[in-house]
Amino acid sequence: MNYEHLDPNKKDILIIDDMADNLRVLSSILTREGYNVRKALNWQMALTATQTVLPDLILLDIMMPEVDGYEICQTFKAWELTADIPVIFISALDDVFDKVKAFKMGGVDYITKPFEFQEVIVRVQNQLALRSARLEILKLNVELEHRVKERTGELEKALQKLQKEINSRQKLQSQLLEIALHDSLTGLPNRVLFIRRLENALNRAKQESSYQFALLFLDCDRFKVINDSLGHLVGDELLIAIARRLQACLTPIHTLARLGGDEFAILLENITDINIAIQVAERILQQLSLAFKLSRYEVFMNASIGISWGNKDYDRPEYLLRDADTAMYRAKAQGRAKYHVFNPAMHQEAIQLLELENDLRRAVERQEFLVYYQPIVSLTTGRISGFEALVRWQHPIRGLVAPTEFIPVAEETGLINAINTWVLQSACHQLSIWQHYPLTPEPLTISVNLSARLFSQPNLVDQIDQIIYESKINPAYLELEITESVIMENTNAIKIILQKLKQRKIKLIMDDFGTGYSSLSYLHSFPLNALKIDKSFVKRMQENKENMGLVPAMIGIANSMGMSAIAEGVETQEQLAQLRSLNCNFAQGYLFSKPIEQQLVIKLLAAAPQW
Ligand code: C2E
Ligand code: MG
Ligand code: MG
Repeated sequence: MNYEHLDPNKKDILIIDDMADNLRVLSSILTREGYNVRKALNWQMALTATQTVLPDLILLDIMMPEVDGYEICQTFKAWELTADIPVIFISALDDVFDKVKAFKMGGVDYITKPFEFQEVIVRVQNQLALRSARLEILKLNVELEHRVKERTGELEKALQKLQKEINSRQKLQSQLLEIALHDSLTGLPNRVLFIRRLENALNRAKQESSYQFALLFLDCDRFKVINDSLGHLVGDELLIAIARRLQACLTPIHTLARLGGDEFAILLENITDINIAIQVAERILQQLSLAFKLSRYEVFMNASIGISWGNKDYDRPEYLLRDADTAMYRAKAQGRAKYHVFNPAMHQEAIQLLELENDLRRAVERQEFLVYYQPIVSLTTGRISGFEALVRWQHPIRGLVAPTEFIPVAEETGLINAINTWVLQSACHQLSIWQHYPLTPEPLTISVNLSARLFSQPNLVDQIDQIIYESKINPAYLELEITESVIMENTNAIKIILQKLKQRKIKLIMDDFGTGYSSLSYLHSFPLNALKIDKSFVKRMQENKENMGLVPAMIGIANSMGMSAIAEGVETQEQLAQLRSLNCNFAQGYLFSKPIEQQLVIKLLAAAPQW
């Protein structure tokens, strides 16, 4: 059979019938309807036709000689390629046609002979339409499946990308966390992380009675000096070196952290008693005392360490840190390069200090201060030549508080500016009143102590000018007592201030001479009028009768530099005699008078005592 003429756009129908007449009739009906029609007279021909081109529909006669329709249908249905080709059975009316069997074999419909043309066409059309629909569905299914697969693939890819993104974000987050919890310079844990570890240790101690820990708070001594003199880069290098050295003193179970600046903290975990913490502190102090060889300098560095024992009764880790800090300050006060173990009394003291600070603030507002005056005696005349103004605090509950107790706090809090200015004002005002008093010796000087902190006030000289102007005193009678720390700073700004004061004829006295660090070269470059020898040297004069200690040398220095010498803390006649023999110019002390209230000054002046 030649199938070349078959039109691929037309539906293909295969008719299998052993009766040539039937074939012809059916073929012509269907060809007229626009189908490709092929004919097979027996099974063999049907097979060949099917193998050549798969038909869209088969019309199959039941009654055939060798292989009957049922069997052919069954065979087609069994093959994969032909299984879904619809088969319509053809039967003669007189045939014994078993419809049930026909459907069972896989037939979809049947036509009985003689043919009703319209019926044949409708049944063929129906089946073809059904098959088209089925094929379409199949195709759609395949397409759908394909699309689902494609989408699934895309989704999987998107998911993978998302996972990658999540991973990189998590990495970034942990990196950020790492940065947030560590010190960038040394790489050590920072305060936040340290507090967390401390909190864990505290919680563990609350649960396990056998678990004990201690805290070391370390602050470098004089670090600022190194930073300021050698620069921040050297400072940074030193901090890194310190961190390394500290780390080397510890085992990995302990936490070393940099809290900021030159402060470090160490958490010693799982230790049995405080002595272990003390041993660690001693080892650290010993290690830190060795020279640090930096890239360009060799520097020496010490530290002070406060130790607090990890008592489970602490409510918060910060309190432990605070107590170690308090102990560290105590260590510093004891002379640096030391350690100190915290005890609860220290906390009490710290609280008292805080109260003092608050009280002091209020005192400034309410003006609770008084000025006492202590006479200064000229050793040439034996008479009073002036007074030193010494501040007192009239505390509403505690009574009179000595300056040694509150001046350091006032200096730390900055309240000293207000207090000191007020003292200066009161003293100048007082002098102007005394000067109008007939029994007052001429000239009478007033000495006022000036805190080193005042020198960082930009308008210090203006303020002094203002006070002198208001009190109308002669500035030559005003003496300002400064301490060695002022000139130790040796800054241009301070030199300028002192120079300006000198221009105004105000006298400058170096107070507590000998207790600080001033070198002679420093003394030389400042316009000082007098050195006040600290009372500790005057006191030791008697212990060391032959050479009178350092006092002769101090008086010598003053005289050779064209300055007067004032001896402080003179309590005995013997001291007075010694100072006279050394040609000391002035003296001050309980031997003459304690610091007294302003009303008593008038009486003292009236009595005009002479020594
Ligand atoms: P300072 O300026 O060296 O004053 C001398 C201190 O020695 C005074 O103590 C005085 O009372 C005491 N003193 C005087 N004679 C004797 C003596 O014979 N024996 C003994 N043991 N002590 C004697 P005060 O009044 O307690 O003042 C202590 C320090 O407080 C002063 O030392 C001064 O540094 C500071 N200060 C006092 N008033 C002021 C002030 O208005 N401003 C500033 N910045 N500091 C002040
Ligand atoms: Mg003084
Ligand atoms: Mg003094």
